[in-house]
Amino acid sequence: MHVKSKTLQEDNDQSFEDLFFHSGQSGIKAFEEMMEAVTNQLIDFQMEQTKPYNGKSPAEVKQEVEALKQASCKGDHLPHFLKELDQSVMNHSIHVNHRQAVGHLHCPPLLPGVAAELILSVFNQSMDSWDQSPAAGFVEEKMIHWLIDQFQLGEQSDGVFSSGGTQSNYMGLLLARDYYCEREFGHDVQKEGLPSHSSRLKILCSKEAHFTVKKSAAQLGLGEEAVVLIETDEDHRMCFTDLKTKVKHLKNNGDLPFALVGTCGTTDFGSIDPLKELADFSKENNLWFHVDAAYGGALILSHSHREKLKGIQEANSITVDFHKLFYQPISCGAFLINDQSCFKYLNHHADYLNPKEDEEEGIPHLVNKTVATSRRFDALKLWTSLRVVGIERFQKMIDHTFVIAQQAADEIEAVKELEGVNRNPELNTVLFRFTAEEISKSELNQMNRVIQQKLLYEGAAFAAKTKVNNDVYLKLTLLNPRTSLSDIKAIFKRIIELGIQEVDKRRVLI
Ligand SMILES: *Cc1c(COP(=O)(O)O)cnc(C)c1O
Repeated sequence: MHVKSKTLQEDNDQSFEDLFFHSGQSGIKAFEEMMEAVTNQLIDFQMEQTKPYNGKSPAEVKQEVEALKQASCKGDHLPHFLKELDQSVMNHSIHVNHRQAVGHLHCPPLLPGVAAELILSVFNQSMDSWDQSPAAGFVEEKMIHWLIDQFQLGEQSDGVFSSGGTQSNYMGLLLARDYYCEREFGHDVQKEGLPSHSSRLKILCSKEAHFTVKKSAAQLGLGEEAVVLIETDEDHRMCFTDLKTKVKHLKNNGDLPFALVGTCGTTDFGSIDPLKELADFSKENNLWFHVDAAYGGALILSHSHREKLKGIQEANSITVDFHKLFYQPISCGAFLINDQSCFKYLNHHADYLNPKEDEEEGIPHLVNKTVATSRRFDALKLWTSLRVVGIERFQKMIDHTFVIAQQAADEIEAVKELEGVNRNPELNTVLFRFTAEEISKSELNQMNRVIQQKLLYEGAAFAAKTKVNNDVYLKLTLLNPRTSLSDIKAIFKRIIELGIQEVDKRRVLI
């Protein structure tokens, strides 16, 4: 018995010392070697990339990854594994740093953010309780206060980092629901669940709002049908007249509208709802005003476009994503509220984590402000990026992307085979499609779908597709400040070539 346990101890010393980062020689050596191997592998990968995607189909990629899964797990050297990873995973990734990867709201990450990602993983602080993140929690609060200042929110405002827009929108609507039920009916949703008349609770947003508004309504027990969609104007902003009509109608019907979601930067058009009017309307009608600024929140760092945020400071809650136009590695987002006392609807005291006595002693536990428990120190990425890049250069970078988007829209206007939707892009998305004379609407839809797919499977460029009034359009999301007009022209040239091929195919058939 005694001998056996001693052997195990010796085994321990041999087998685990090189698996963790510690001050012993083997810990330092293993860290150095692994980081060097990763750096070298990433540089090799970067040097070989000529296209945003290698063009493989879902079935082909699946097959290669499956093959990797079957490989044995008997223990191996990291560089060996990295070679395998390069072949079957890195190679089939969307190369987000490529200048022609302009499909989704999916940014190239800033290098200081990437460096910070390594630091926060090594330290692995957990943001839920103070005793798991003694300094990190204060850094997060510092970044939240920086944001609050930028948005010019009031004295009582507060916030928390989140995994992204989905989680922030969910939290906004959760607080809105619970605040309304308490204020109107003295009903405690946290304790008692939904009130008996919950099917009458309604959320308003424009028909271009993000789908997570509906998804949140479903998860909050209200159902997707609780979301009333408001029409948009020709610039894809919420139509204020339709909002007034619909709210009046709901009230006449005995329904209970409790929240209004304004979008600051819709995913497809980058359009911004009339925030000031919506803020005033919300106050008059006792609605919680939530602004989904996942995309457009970055305008706080823009010289040229900042005034478009006017009215946002009157919101009850705001969603901001840093893994979009703030160029941070996923995930990194924030949720802000104008009245910190509303965080009580998320608070639950657990003896092991955030006991009530701690709160009385002033020990801060950030778990009290969010739906998550263990949580990453993502605030470090934003802080590092702001410090290293500097506000001025950050501002220039974001403004530059608006210039590129305008150049792309001008180019679309100048080319007869392309038809644009937004002549003056509000942010940096540009919508357009290939067009040709004597081709029917349904055929154009089909052709544009084919063009988008071919472009992706060639891998030479990457554009997204979406629908405008049920017609298929292509979308460039020009987040990368390194993308130039010549990149955009190259993408358009290929789109037109593919389009003409499709037209010719149809002409042969006729
Ligand atoms: C991206 C986006 C979301 C969702 O955010 P995630 O960070 O992907 O969860 C919500 N709203 C808008 C307007 C967005 O652009």
